[in-house]
Amino acid sequence: MDIIHLLPDSVANQIAAGEVIQRPASCLKELVENSLDAGATRIQVIVRDAGRTLLQVIDNGIGMSEMDARLAFERHATSKIREAQDLFSLRTMGFRGEALASICAVAQVEMTTRREEDETGTLIEIHGSDVIRQEVCSCPVGTNIKVSNLFFNVPVRRKFLKSDQTELRNLMTEFYHIVLVYPKVAFTFVHNDEILLELPVGTEKQRIEAVFGNPKRNVFTSNFVDVSTETDLVSIRGFVIKPESATRKAEQFFFVNGRYMRHPYFLKAVQTAYSGMLTADYQPSFFIYFDIAPEAIDVNIHPTKTEIKFADEQAIFQILMASVREALGKFTLAPQIDFDTAGNIDIPLPTNRPVERPKVSVDPQYNPFHTRGAIYPDKQPVKGWETLYEGIKNERPQGGFNDAAPLSDEGLMIPDAEQAPLWQHGRYLFMSTEDGLLLIHPHRAHAAVLYAQFMEQLAHAQGAMQQLLFPEILTLQPDEMVLIGQILPDLQSIGFDLEQLSPDSYSIQGVPAQIANQSPLSVLQDILHQVRSRGADTREEWRRQIATSLAEQAAIPSGKTLTDSEMRDILTRLMALPNYRRTADGKTIVSLVTNEEIERRF
Ligand code: ADP
Ligand code: MG
Repeated sequence: MDIIHLLPDSVANQIAAGEVIQRPASCLKELVENSLDAGATRIQVIVRDAGRTLLQVIDNGIGMSEMDARLAFERHATSKIREAQDLFSLRTMGFRGEALASICAVAQVEMTTRREEDETGTLIEIHGSDVIRQEVCSCPVGTNIKVSNLFFNVPVRRKFLKSDQTELRNLMTEFYHIVLVYPKVAFTFVHNDEILLELPVGTEKQRIEAVFGNPKRNVFTSNFVDVSTETDLVSIRGFVIKPESATRKAEQFFFVNGRYMRHPYFLKAVQTAYSGMLTADYQPSFFIYFDIAPEAIDVNIHPTKTEIKFADEQAIFQILMASVREALGKFTLAPQIDFDTAGNIDIPLPTNRPVERPKVSVDPQYNPFHTRGAIYPDKQPVKGWETLYEGIKNERPQGGFNDAAPLSDEGLMIPDAEQAPLWQHGRYLFMSTEDGLLLIHPHRAHAAVLYAQFMEQLAHAQGAMQQLLFPEILTLQPDEMVLIGQILPDLQSIGFDLEQLSPDSYSIQGVPAQIANQSPLSVLQDILHQVRSRGADTREEWRRQIATSLAEQAAIPSGKTLTDSEMRDILTRLMALPNYRRTADGKTIVSLVTNEEIERRF
């Protein structure tokens, strides 16, 4: 006798329900997500006894036809994907078509729904997967779904529910995860006839304020700074708490493409960005929203799981850490004492995007030691930071850097490198300022200064050339010949005097003055390597690579002992740059140990 048989749908649905609907909170999540997928702009949640007795969601979304109202409760019935391919470009919250089938398997469900184009709506009642009635009714456009006596037919589940207090807290948590990403949808949450939350349409910030704006919890949006970064890979925006407003208990929220997620690895990125800024066991609060191409993430791990896999987690980690640090840097100073581990941030840069140039102006009235927390004048997001150095064109006194006065950028002050106490210890320079001790990496500082100088010379074809006494011959591969031919005008404008000798060689007759005592062959080879390995195929891009390579090679070597005037010279020129905290490729140049930090050591 055959012993295998198919389970009746009601049983299969109950089993599935065990996975999808574990508690009232998961039921609420599914219902509200359906309303959002249906394009609702107003969603009301009505709960009784923490969802045990009643969970009702009323929306003004698109509603369902009579046929769809019945189908919606079938397993794998969904309007959101049609083929497997669609799974990779999801923009809706639901897609499995399991939620309603699961819910109606373990509860008594009554739903009314109407589409705008229909005169009448549909009422359907299902108890434990059995359709009790379906009839025409009169109801507003949208869907009103009432889930009563959850787990009425699964006593074990019912027994495992926690106290009403705990289940209500779970419900609220689930609700927060949703409402924080949909500020353009109005929500109400009613529990036992009491309105617990009334959330009008607003901005993200207003929504956060409306949910958490409780003085006791110390999560006011004024305690936050904005994070905003756009790269080709991901866009990140949101709010992170100012370090001094942090508390032991933090509100930490990540969202990706409109969906809440837990992400311990990215949490680490945020914590790292705060390192050294928080009192022991204080935690940063944050609300961070990621936007990424749907095919770069995998939300399909499990219906109730909030972990999400990213294709490029390490790169996003770096971008996230850099953007949070950037945001905090604008507001206060993020100490980064370890230059080498803190600095290697490799951020994919968008190409060909215009970047707003920071304005730099000379302020002769400036008192170097006045404004607190103003040492990092950059207002730029992380994207395109290489181009930040271009901002100094023309606005800087031509010729000598030494006569550059301390600059302010929109009122932000920077210390006076000509006056402040300054000394060298080992590889680093130390400058005493009112805010604390500035640590400076002299090689990177010099490279940043030279980079800016080279970029300017490239733009104006003003490179200073030093003639070689004995020309040298550079022999190249065919692809390098093509490359050098392409960038030749820029090499000439920066100060190289090159002449093609044969189909595979050039003679070098002059080099940029700044690198006159380096080997011309290796300097040029490094440039070609840099341009090629970075895939720099626009003029803008290869100019940056030429400038980066030259600056790196011409800068004073790490660890060299400098005279006082050398130190001051480099620093004065560095401080005149619009962004002097980091090198063009994102490494830390300047780091501050605050007075508070120093104080704490004793
Ligand atoms: P999924 O959301 O994964 O598609 P569900 O079981 O949650 O699966 O819902 C099944 C279908 O019922 C949805 O695809 C949608 O077409 C319809 N539906 C559910 N809730 C609503 C609603 N509030 N408004 C309009 N249609 C809905
Ligand atoms: Mg759904």
